[in-house]
Amino acid sequence: RFFIIMRIAVTGGNGLVGSSIKAIAHQYPEHEFVFLKRSDCELASRMAVMTFFSSAYNRFDCIIHLAAKVGGLFMNLDSNVEMFSENIKINENILFACKKYGIKRGIFCLSSCIYPCNPSRFPMDESMIHESPPHPSNEGYAYAKRMLEVQCRQHNKAYGTEYICVVPVNLYGPYDNFSIKNGHVIPAIMNRFHGEKAKKDGKFTVYGTGRPYRQFLYAPDFAKIICDVLLDKKYDNTEPLICCNDETTIKEMVGTLAESMDISVDKLEWDTSKSDGCMKKTVDNSKLCKYYPEFKFTSLQDGLKETYKWFCDNRETLRQ
Ligand code: GDP
Repeated sequence: RFFIIMRIAVTGGNGLVGSSIKAIAHQYPEHEFVFLKRSDCELASRMAVMTFFSSAYNRFDCIIHLAAKVGGLFMNLDSNVEMFSENIKINENILFACKKYGIKRGIFCLSSCIYPCNPSRFPMDESMIHESPPHPSNEGYAYAKRMLEVQCRQHNKAYGTEYICVVPVNLYGPYDNFSIKNGHVIPAIMNRFHGEKAKKDGKFTVYGTGRPYRQFLYAPDFAKIICDVLLDKKYDNTEPLICCNDETTIKEMVGTLAESMDISVDKLEWDTSKSDGCMKKTVDNSKLCKYYPEFKFTSLQDGLKETYKWFCDNRETLRQ
């Protein structure tokens, strides 16, 4: 059998999604994945990016661009300036290198949190990314990521590249950043609750009212979708592609999370002085389902159980 080997650069190789791709890379043995870490290359620096990609060892056919400055609601509220500036620089540098070094095909990661906060309809589909302003809480991140969609589209048009933007919802799973202060809701609460469980009178406080709706996607599911879209080419165009699973309220999700951590739901307390963020940002996965009708999503219950098991097994080394 004659194998065509694709060499694929994965930025953000140590992150939540990059690590999940690393875990399944063996399922694509005819391709070589190269995972870039921050110590390999500071992506916000043009010089560092050009030095890295100009090396003869670093030639790639494809890219999976995951690296970004990201955080949960409370980090975004504190640092909109940095979220915008750093993400704009990272994306501009990566696309400059892609053009210069002839990378023809790639997956670029957006997020459903860049969508309008007051859209004309729910669920939102791929055509609505730029319809109206994002939620003010994460304006910096949202506009930088919206520009990545514009940049990819322009490269495709001008240079005939195949750069596809994928739009995941709230991701969680093993290898996440479990920072209590800056993390997304699942890893932040998991870490906080785990600490409280060890105390005699532990308090299980959740922020906000619990009423906002969110869609959660297990990072290993997203990793599989990314690799399939990039490599099997069933998705035969370059328009953005939403990747999501069912919607729940924060309250329901936290109930399931507490259960998977053996914490009684009656012990949960809600600190309604804290922000709810956006109340609803439902997106529609019917395009993904059309191209991948067989895809089986991991249930929130199973995903949370797996994540908590991983958290407990990796207490010493996990990011937080
Ligand atoms: P978002 O989905 O982009 O808003 O980001 P998050 O993953 O940070 O989710 C925020 C939602 O979870 C908001 O409705 C918060 O009020 C709620 N939430 C409840 N407790 C926490 C917490 O401890 N940390 C975070 N980040 N969010 C929390």
